[in-house]
Amino acid sequence: MGMKNDEPKRTPKRLLYYYGIILLVTLLLNALVIPSIAERSITEVTYDQFLSMVDSGQVKGLSRTSDQITFWTETPAKDNQNSGGLFGALTSGSQASDFTLYKTGLWPDETLTERLDKAGVSFSEAIPTRATPLQNFIMNWVLPILMFVAIGQILSRMMMKRMGGMGNAMTFGKSNAKIYAETETGKTFADVAGQEEAKEALKEIVDFLHNPKKYADIGATLPKGALLVGPPGTGKTLLAKAVAGEAHVPFFSISGSEFVEMFVGMGAAKVRDLFKQANEKAPCIVFIDEIDTIGKKRDSGGFSGNDEREQTLNQLLTEMDGFDGRKGVVILAATNRPESLDKALLRPGRFDRRIPVELPDLKGRVAILKVHAKQVKISDNVDFDAIGRATSGASGAELANIINEGALRAVRQGRSVVTQADLEESVEVVIAGYQRKDAGVSVDEKRIVSYHEVGHALVAACQSHSAPVHKITIIPRTSGTLGYTMQVEEGERFLMSREEALNKIATLTGGRAAEEFMFHSITTGAANDIEQATKLARAMVTRYGMSDQFGMVALETVNNPYLSADTSMTCSPETARLVDEEVIRIVREQYERAMEILKEHAGKLNEIAAYLLERETITGEEFMEILNRKPEEPETEKGI
Ligand code: ADP
Ligand code: MG
Ligand code: ZN
Repeated sequence: MGMKNDEPKRTPKRLLYYYGIILLVTLLLNALVIPSIAERSITEVTYDQFLSMVDSGQVKGLSRTSDQITFWTETPAKDNQNSGGLFGALTSGSQASDFTLYKTGLWPDETLTERLDKAGVSFSEAIPTRATPLQNFIMNWVLPILMFVAIGQILSRMMMKRMGGMGNAMTFGKSNAKIYAETETGKTFADVAGQEEAKEALKEIVDFLHNPKKYADIGATLPKGALLVGPPGTGKTLLAKAVAGEAHVPFFSISGSEFVEMFVGMGAAKVRDLFKQANEKAPCIVFIDEIDTIGKKRDSGGFSGNDEREQTLNQLLTEMDGFDGRKGVVILAATNRPESLDKALLRPGRFDRRIPVELPDLKGRVAILKVHAKQVKISDNVDFDAIGRATSGASGAELANIINEGALRAVRQGRSVVTQADLEESVEVVIAGYQRKDAGVSVDEKRIVSYHEVGHALVAACQSHSAPVHKITIIPRTSGTLGYTMQVEEGERFLMSREEALNKIATLTGGRAAEEFMFHSITTGAANDIEQATKLARAMVTRYGMSDQFGMVALETVNNPYLSADTSMTCSPETARLVDEEVIRIVREQYERAMEILKEHAGKLNEIAAYLLERETITGEEFMEILNRKPEEPETEKGI
């Protein structure tokens, strides 16, 4: 029952309301102005009078029954009868003359026919009726109003179409949410970078849509539906559009969340509409985005409280079973919570093909950056590889955003091309938000932040299995971070060894360790580090089988691979307590190790922290240069 549904409905309803008022007012006026409708009088005359009227040419026509003649004469029209009326001015000029009716008994008279002929009177005509006040009223009031109503309807319909944008807004009668039908999505596979497997899987569908007959001839039926599964922003919607674009077929799309906000019964009606339209337009693509919102597992009994969603889902299942797959309607759906989908949706004949759309790897990230870089003017010597390496874990949408942020920065600085520095800055903007030079961080605080960040960097640099430090900064960002240390892997990493995991925890604790070591006091600045370290230590114990105490036992299951926080414990409460102890032990051990490293390199810690405080940002090279500079602390750099 969201806003979306009310808006298109209100306009025509309000119009009808106004029409009603206008009609009422006119009715009232007419009732007062127009005299009551009198019974039409017929004058009775004698036969003699009738004959003389015939002879004198007064009679215009007559009709007769077995015992009576009814005849009429013409009398000039009375203008005052037609006063008023919306069309009064138009109709009064051409108004027909009025008639007076007479009747007389029928006498045997052979000469009558001759006489009538001579007088030019026509026979057996229907008795003319003068326009009664009622007819006047209809002509002058009801008809014009009906015309206005009709014109109003047509206009408002045209307006609705326009408001619907590129799609057809289905607003009258049927369901209320919009089904967007695009005849050309304008996207092709070239617009989708780095999703080679997904594209490969979808190419068959494109071929099928190009030439359904080829498949029908041999008797093959393609899957009716394919489910695009992956984290947000990886290009699922984009891929669906690209399939339609490649196949040059219409693209019907609707988002699952639109079903949810509908009135009772609307969701199911909507699904019916969608498939009806799609069948008419076949071959075409029907795309249901966020299908998990309607396709959630149906509750077994109890207070489900969501019959509406269930009805919608049932209708969807019915429609998918009902339509002929050979006609060339292919249904694509997208979700980032595949585990929550109702099994009925996934069985053969429905969404039985599952296409993973994962976060891009290094190669994919570089490809995506290049695709989006084509949209902007970019300098020739930009190192996309470096940006790709710095954005490990970023989705396609985030990478697109990085390019755009870079372009915006170039504009802000009055340049006409995007440079490497723009992109590097926008990586940080996307990770940590914009710089906040006016954040009002005091010098004392800056000192603490400096030591904290250099603490991370030093611990990272003094361990063998740790990603190189790329940048350290203490410029505050809009996300609330006061500084951070960026580490960038040299290549793509897919596995993490136990040692690397422990090193990572040590690095994360390095910030807090430096604070304590230097100032003998600790701050809230380490909150995020603590959270990350705990999460990783916990995963080592419960999921990676990396603790001696528990070994290879899964103590926790991941509910959703794409929403990382979504896990649940699968062990007894006693074990859970032991797990907690183990996690605490791991983190504490690494903290102590970090502290050791810092104590050992105390001189470098002071030197680099002072340098950072002065410069606010230092690069990985500068950092390594200072670290390796003086031989006064000749210790090995290998792990301890
Ligand atoms: P999803 O539907 O998976 O959440 P979208 O398809 O809506 O993601 O992607 C959002 C935007 O991110 C796209 O419009 C596109 O600009 C960009 N994008 C995402 N993935 C890719 C990709 N693989 N190649 C190019 N651009 C991408
Ligand atoms: Mg999407
Ligand atoms: Zn930190």
